[in-house]
Amino acid sequence: MPMRALKAIDPTIEYLLKKEYQRQQNTLSLIPSENIASNAVIEALGSVATNKYSEGYSGKRYYGGNEIIDRIETLAIERAKKMFGTEHANVQAYSGSPANQAVYMALLQPGDTVVGMALPAGGHLTHGWKVSFSGKSYRAVQYGVDKNGYLDYDEIADLVLKEKPQLVICGATAYSRIIDFKKFRQIADSVGAYLLADISHISGLVVGGVHPSPAPYADVIMTTTHKSLRGPRGALVMARSAEVGVKIDKAVFPGLQGGPHNHQTAAIAVCLKEANTTEFKSYAKKIIENAKVLASELENCDFSIVTGGTENHLFLIDLTNKGVTGQEAEDALSTVGIIVNKNMVPGDPRSPFDPSGLRVGTPSVTTRGLTIKDMKTLASIINDVTVQKPDRSVLKKAKDTVNELCKRYPAYPR
Ligand SMILES: *Cc1c(COP(=O)(O)O)cnc(C)c1O
Repeated sequence: MPMRALKAIDPTIEYLLKKEYQRQQNTLSLIPSENIASNAVIEALGSVATNKYSEGYSGKRYYGGNEIIDRIETLAIERAKKMFGTEHANVQAYSGSPANQAVYMALLQPGDTVVGMALPAGGHLTHGWKVSFSGKSYRAVQYGVDKNGYLDYDEIADLVLKEKPQLVICGATAYSRIIDFKKFRQIADSVGAYLLADISHISGLVVGGVHPSPAPYADVIMTTTHKSLRGPRGALVMARSAEVGVKIDKAVFPGLQGGPHNHQTAAIAVCLKEANTTEFKSYAKKIIENAKVLASELENCDFSIVTGGTENHLFLIDLTNKGVTGQEAEDALSTVGIIVNKNMVPGDPRSPFDPSGLRVGTPSVTTRGLTIKDMKTLASIINDVTVQKPDRSVLKKAKDTVNELCKRYPAYPR
């Protein structure tokens, strides 16, 4: 991707962006929340739509000159509604966290009770964790997972009955099993609470038809657009009813934000078009196939996989039996060009800064075209490298193999 103007004006940033491009080309990301946006998405992001102010919504803007932006935003909205099967869609939230903040603002008063998944169990900061706005301004009560790493729906039902929240949140950042949205609906209904399905991680699987959709059950669906959906950074907030939709729109603007990021909206429209193809469906299916094979191959090498496997794009490895910490494994894999992230495991006795596990996911490598055969290669590299003090020759061989894979499956051009 040549950046001639940038090079002339700011060679330092041009150099660093080139370095980051090369880093992405020459490493494999197994971080489940990362992906590789298409050239089409990147072009829309780098467009002059970033110059335009358009506070408000289509047809009701606070600035002139929005005829074209209205058409872009309307296309993004129509595509989102069709793709997820909802009555209403807002495409203006800057990212997932502000999108969740908008949902809180739309549906709750400060101090109201929210029940969401705890961060160390696999939830998100914005699901009520204490350092986040969601845990500071609301009365957040958290659920976790059982000792095997599964959601315990009976326990969540009891918690909700006891705490009587106004909002129940389902969805996670580190949960490898299908989420039962119907059960969450019943749980929310038991106390008349709203249900928010935060499908940030799995939305690509949902629109690809390989994970059940929350659309029949959730009052609000929030998803980021840059994870398995493979678009630009951004978020969609979708509502089942027009009534909730109006509240969401007011919360996003003027409640929380000013002008929308129109270049981002254009890129979201592009990614939704890309997601509406048979190629995307096949990609979604392969993400899960790859994750299942990678997990089972690792299990064959005596790695302990939380819940014993996966039904989606990711899984957690508990490294305790390997005598290696999550940080040590992350560092060792990084030296051979495999990028993962350390993560807490259920009942982790260690701290979040130095946890016992790794979180591993396949969206990015699947986008590059890696197959189940390559997952076997990756499992064998992870097995060789994730030991105390790996041998130099072992590291060298692993790095060579990763380099070959990177060359065979470039991140760009695509
Ligand atoms: C990533 C994520 C978010 C937040 O998205 P950002 O764009 O990083 O703010 C919210 N909820 C879940 C479940 C996520 O995985």
